[in-house]
Amino acid sequence: RAFSSPSTFKYADLTVEQTKSPQAKPTPDKLLFGHHFTDHMLEVDWTSKNGWGKPHISPLHNLSFHPAAKVLHYGIELFEGMKAYMGVDGKIRLFRPMENMKRMNKTAKRCDLPTFDGEELISCIKKLILIDREWVPKAENSSLYIRPTLIGNDPTLGVSKSQQALLFVIVGPVGSYFTTGLEPVTLMADPKYVRAWPGGCGSYKMGSNYAPTIEVQSNAVKAKCQQVLWLYGEDHQLTEVGTMNLFMYWTNEEGVDELITHPLDGLVLPGVTRSSLIKLAEEWGEFKVTEKPYGMKEVVKALKENRVKEIFGAGTACVVCPVKEIVYEGEVLQIPAVGQPKLSMRFFKELTDIQFGRKPSDMVEIV
Ligand code: PMP
Repeated sequence: RAFSSPSTFKYADLTVEQTKSPQAKPTPDKLLFGHHFTDHMLEVDWTSKNGWGKPHISPLHNLSFHPAAKVLHYGIELFEGMKAYMGVDGKIRLFRPMENMKRMNKTAKRCDLPTFDGEELISCIKKLILIDREWVPKAENSSLYIRPTLIGNDPTLGVSKSQQALLFVIVGPVGSYFTTGLEPVTLMADPKYVRAWPGGCGSYKMGSNYAPTIEVQSNAVKAKCQQVLWLYGEDHQLTEVGTMNLFMYWTNEEGVDELITHPLDGLVLPGVTRSSLIKLAEEWGEFKVTEKPYGMKEVVKALKENRVKEIFGAGTACVVCPVKEIVYEGEVLQIPAVGQPKLSMRFFKELTDIQFGRKPSDMVEIV
């Protein structure tokens, strides 16, 4: 893959090598997340000497690294998660893809990996999707998951800047996150585990944020919970749930109906879904929308006083994920199902209507 331009790669330089042995596509009702990949992938090389190379689409293949590659030792890696949706009109749509590109570049900078022009990567990704368009599921709430990834593959040990990088994108069909609609989940909230801290990397989407969460998630499952509620600080602030942002819809101490979520203070990932829900809620203007820390004490008090309407996670994987219970300090807190129809369901319908082309919106781009 020859080199072209130092500061970004260009869609205009993209070359394509089509597969000679297309794989069978999985049936839409058997799509386990992250288990299926399409026939092609995208790659772009970078070196500190020559800058970015030319983007190349080729048949999906294994990668090969020197065993000293920095990514394997120091976790110099970052990624994005986004989806392409097959619309009711037969057009494929991306949802706010530039938001993912901005976040990817911010994370790249924090890893001292090279940045690039997000529009150019989106154009390359669109081409990849069009080549593999038969893989975009047509089933309800199914989509093509897109995983742009950037790694430091410099073949040297030593904790220092990677002088070599590889950007690649793999895509694969994913099913509806929930088999029986929006199944409410039980959360394990254990303040002894902390996901992110001030000055840390919680607001970046780098692989090294996720490895330390695996054991905690396994503990949650052992404790009959589905997800981890990540608390922070002496006041046990509710920050995120699993790999989702968290929202509470409640009547606050002043008696005002309010949608509250932790602010973008470095402890939470700036989720694309998070920002979209805030945008929608502000457009509706029916209740207060607040980005500020809130702790377990306030939640427990509000639960006692019947002021909590809903708690739910929000992310690309499921759009929204309602919470039914929180296991906290030896107690099981029940999150009531007050108020119908549920706000989380309204958000789910609104966003999926936009994503699947049932409702026009400037939040989507046609592939
Ligand atoms: N928080 C974390 C830690 C995540 O990994 C994700 C998934 N990207 C989110 C929140 C939700 O972000 P988004 O809405 O962009 O998918």
